[in-house]
Amino acid sequence: MTAPTSTSISAPILELREVSKRFVKPLDAAAKLARLVGADIQPQVVHAVDHANLSIQAGEVVGLVGESGCGKSTLGRMAVGLHSLTEGSRWWRGQELTGLDKKAQRDSQLAIQMIFQDPYASLNPRMRVKHIIGEAPLVHGLIMASEQQDYVEQLLQKVGLDPAIATRFPHQFSGGQRARIGIARALAVKPEFLVCDEAVAALDVSIQAQVLNLFIRLRDELKLTYLFISHDLGVVRHLSDRVVIMYLGRVVESAPTAEIFSQANHPYTQALLASAPKLEVRKTTFVAIQGEIPSPLNPPAGCHFHPRCPHAMPRCAQEQPVLTEIAPQHFSACHLNTV
Ligand code: SF4
Repeated sequence: MTAPTSTSISAPILELREVSKRFVKPLDAAAKLARLVGADIQPQVVHAVDHANLSIQAGEVVGLVGESGCGKSTLGRMAVGLHSLTEGSRWWRGQELTGLDKKAQRDSQLAIQMIFQDPYASLNPRMRVKHIIGEAPLVHGLIMASEQQDYVEQLLQKVGLDPAIATRFPHQFSGGQRARIGIARALAVKPEFLVCDEAVAALDVSIQAQVLNLFIRLRDELKLTYLFISHDLGVVRHLSDRVVIMYLGRVVESAPTAEIFSQANHPYTQALLASAPKLEVRKTTFVAIQGEIPSPLNPPAGCHFHPRCPHAMPRCAQEQPVLTEIAPQHFSACHLNTV
């Protein structure tokens, strides 16, 4: 697969090269028993991410889009370092992370933070806000204990919350307030790069708009870079400079936001845009041309999309299409571009 390249002379702030992630689903007790008596039962392997490339420049906002189960959250967790890589490599400012010394690895790890979908589940219900936000910078030596209170209050103000709430617990807040606390917690270790995984999906539409505007303001004020993972094309269009589309573990298209919405190239992207805003039902609206609906448990050979693609050719079932630059900064993985 050809990695997308940038015209920028500086190294990307974060790069994932040919990364794959496979999860092995352990056998249950019945399957283990059946194996003992000779049944040929193997553990199931989930191909969550399959030789994906992702390259993000400092200051960029990249939207990562795809249907549920396409591997976008797994790829985001690999970017943060929450999932190990089965294959491939992870680079930070031009250096492979496994090759860095311990201090440089720790610094890069602090510089890459994640904001989770469910702010309530990701906040410790037994901790007060001042500890939720103030603990990590203290532990990592970014502030002294005597500075903690002021530091937390400044962060609360930065995300639009009253500093007086610092002594409360997470259950005392609305969803929008908890989302802001989650953002303040991520900002507390002075990150440069935020992976936001469905960060506004659980919020009401009016609150979503407020939190999205907060993300935009923070990006400008703190010179942040975002990987914004979402199934909501409207959110991604509003926020992103560039959109990356995933299907069944692979990156199938990447282009500047305006171009992806006006000149989508890959048949999957076209189907995705045509099905918006009902992404959650698109599995049943695509035409199944042959065989079963493909899944990460059993991805088809060749182009993963070929069982559902109305343009599939015999070649598509055999050969995996590579990402090819079809216009400046516009990459697509489809054999239609190479016939
Ligand atoms: Fe369709 Fe073939 Fe292109 Fe895959 S490679 S999207 S099956 S035309």
